[in-house]
Amino acid sequence: MSDDTQRWKDKYLSSLEQQERLEKRWDARLDLLRRGLVRSSLAAEGTDKAVDRCMKEMREILRRDDMDAPLGNLIPRLEKAVLESEKHRQQRSTEALNALQQLIDQLQKLDPPREVSKALKSLNRQMADATSHSYKLPALLNQLSQLQKQTLEQLRDGQPDQPGLLQRLFGKRGDTPAETPDEDSAPAPAPAPAPAPAPAHESTSPVASNATPEPEPVREDKPSAPELTPLSTNPIPIEMPQGDAKFALPSNEPGYSSVAPHIAESLRKLIAELELPPRHQPQGEALLERLQGPLNWYELVPVLDDLSVLVLAVSGNSQREFAVYLKQLNERLATFIGTLNEAHEGYNGSLEQARSFDQELREQVNELQTSVQEAVDLDSLKNALEQRLDALLQTVATHQQQRNEQEEAVAGRLQSLVQRVAEMEQEAQQFRDHIEEQRQKSLLDPLTGLPNRAAWSERLELEVARRQRYGGELLLAVLDIDHFKRVNDNYGHLAGDRVLKIIAGELQKRLRKTDFMARFGGEEFVLLIPATPLEGGQQLLQTLRAAVAACPFHFKGEPLTITCSAGLTEFRADESSDSVFERADQALYRAKGEGRNRIELG
Ligand code: GH3
Ligand code: MG
Ligand code: MG
Repeated sequence: MSDDTQRWKDKYLSSLEQQERLEKRWDARLDLLRRGLVRSSLAAEGTDKAVDRCMKEMREILRRDDMDAPLGNLIPRLEKAVLESEKHRQQRSTEALNALQQLIDQLQKLDPPREVSKALKSLNRQMADATSHSYKLPALLNQLSQLQKQTLEQLRDGQPDQPGLLQRLFGKRGDTPAETPDEDSAPAPAPAPAPAPAPAHESTSPVASNATPEPEPVREDKPSAPELTPLSTNPIPIEMPQGDAKFALPSNEPGYSSVAPHIAESLRKLIAELELPPRHQPQGEALLERLQGPLNWYELVPVLDDLSVLVLAVSGNSQREFAVYLKQLNERLATFIGTLNEAHEGYNGSLEQARSFDQELREQVNELQTSVQEAVDLDSLKNALEQRLDALLQTVATHQQQRNEQEEAVAGRLQSLVQRVAEMEQEAQQFRDHIEEQRQKSLLDPLTGLPNRAAWSERLELEVARRQRYGGELLLAVLDIDHFKRVNDNYGHLAGDRVLKIIAGELQKRLRKTDFMARFGGEEFVLLIPATPLEGGQQLLQTLRAAVAACPFHFKGEPLTITCSAGLTEFRADESSDSVFERADQALYRAKGEGRNRIELG
C-alpha cells in the first residue's frame, strides 16, 4: 500500500470516529432535552386545561422516535394555549386584586385607628403594583389580614373612634368617650301578646314526653357575626316576627362607654331606693346630678366611693332612727304613766275631798243639832238654823265646785292620754310597715324579681311544718338552665341576664298560686309544689321544660334555643327537707348526664 493510500485510510477512519463521537454526543443532548421537556411539561400541568392537554401530547410524542412531524404540528397549538392561559391568569389576578381593594375600602369605612388607616392606604398602593407580580399577593394578603384583625378588635372593644381601654384609663381626665346608645336601655318595643300559658298541672293533657328532639347545640364558636358583619356592604336584614322583640338578646358584650348608661341607671335606681333621711338628701341629689352626665372610668370610682359612704351612713342611720324612736316611745310611755298617776292621784284626792266633805257635813249637822237643842226661844232657833244652813249650803257649793274642777282636769288628762295612745299606735304601725317593706325587699332577687334563697328557706320551713301538721303531698324540684356558661361566653353577660329574666317570667306564669318558685342562685331555680301527686308535678315540669325550649330567643337575628333540665321528687314520711333536696339535686345531675333538656325523678 502506498503512503498516500495509507494516509487516506487513516483520515477516513478518524473522520468515522469523530462522526461516531458527534452522534453519541447529539444522542445524549437529545435525551437530555427530552427529559427536560417531560419534566417541565409535568411541572406546568394544572395551570390550564388546554395547556395540560398539549403537554400530555408532547410527552407522548417525546417518547417516540419519529417526533419531528408531530412536534412541528403540536408547537403552534401549544404556543396558542400558553398565550390564552396567560391571559386568563392576568384576568384572575386583576379580579383578586379588585376584591382585595374592595375589602380595604370596607375596612376604611369602619373608621379604623389612624395608624391602621395609614397602613391600609399604603397597602392599597402596593396592590396596584402587584397586578403584574402575582407572587407578591400572599405577602399583601397577610398584611391585610393583620390590619383587618386590628380594625375588628378595635370595633369589638368599643367604638371605632374611641381610644383603646388603656388610653381611656390613662388618657386625659374628662376625655369622655363618645356615647353609644345602649341597646339594653333603649325603649322596649311593644311586647308581643304573651303566648297562652300552658295549662297548669290540674290539666288532663297527657304527660308530655321527654322525646322533644335535642335542640341544636348552642353555638360553640366565639361570636363570629360581630366580626363578619362589617365586611358585608349590604347586610341582609333578617325579618323577625314582631313578638320576638321580647326574646331579642343584647348584642355583643359592650365596651365601657356603652355599659356606662346601664351602670348610671342602676346607680340612680339604687339611690332612689335608699330612702334618704332629710339630712342626707343633699348628698344623694349631688350624686344623682353627677350621674346625669356621661360617666367615664374616673368619675365612676369616686361616685361609687361616695355612694358606699352614703349607704353606710344611711344603713347606720336607720338603726339610729329606730333607736331614737324607741327612746321617744319610752319617754312617752313615762309621761303616759305619769299622767295616769296624776289621774289616779286626782281620783284619790277627790275621794279625800268627799270624805272631808262628809266629815264637814256631819260636823255641821251635829252643830246644827246642838244649836237646835240649845236654842231657848224661836228667834234664836231661827237665827241659829239660818246660820248653820248657810254654812251647810256654802260647804256643798264649795265641794260641788271643787268636784267639777277636778273632773274637768281628769277628763282633760284622759283625753290627752287617748290622743297620745292613738299617735303612738300610728307611729308603731308606720314602723311595722317600713320594717315589713324592707323585709319583703330583702326576700326578692333583684334580677328576676323572684323570691330569693332566703325567701325559699322561709317558705320551705312553712310548707314542711304544714305538711307535718295536716299531711298531704309536697313535691320539690330543682331546675337548671343547660349550658348557660356558653350563653355568657358566646353572647355576653347582658344577654345571659336577659335570658335569666325572661325564663324566670316564663316559668312563673305557668305556676299555680300555691306553688312556690325561687331563684336558688346563678341559673338554678327551685320549686315547691304542694298538694300535687308526683305525676301532676311531672306534668307541670314537662310543661315548664317545653316552654323554655320553645322561647324564640334570637341574637342579632340568629335564632337561639335554650333548654333546661330538672330533678323532681316528693317528700316521703318524715324526711328532712335537706335529704329531699339532695334527692332532687341528684335527679337533676342524672338529667344533665342523660343529655339535658329533660326531667328526671328522684
Ligand atoms: P350545665 O348544663 O351543666 O348546667 O352547664 P352550665 O354551663 O349551665 O353550668 P355551669 O355551672 O358550668 O355554669 C353556670 C354559669 O352561669 C356560670 C356563671 O357565669 C353563669 N351565671 C350564674 N349567675 C349568672 C347571672 O346572674 N348572670 C349571668 N349572665 N350569668 C350567670
Ligand atoms: Mg346550668
Ligand atoms: Mg347550675
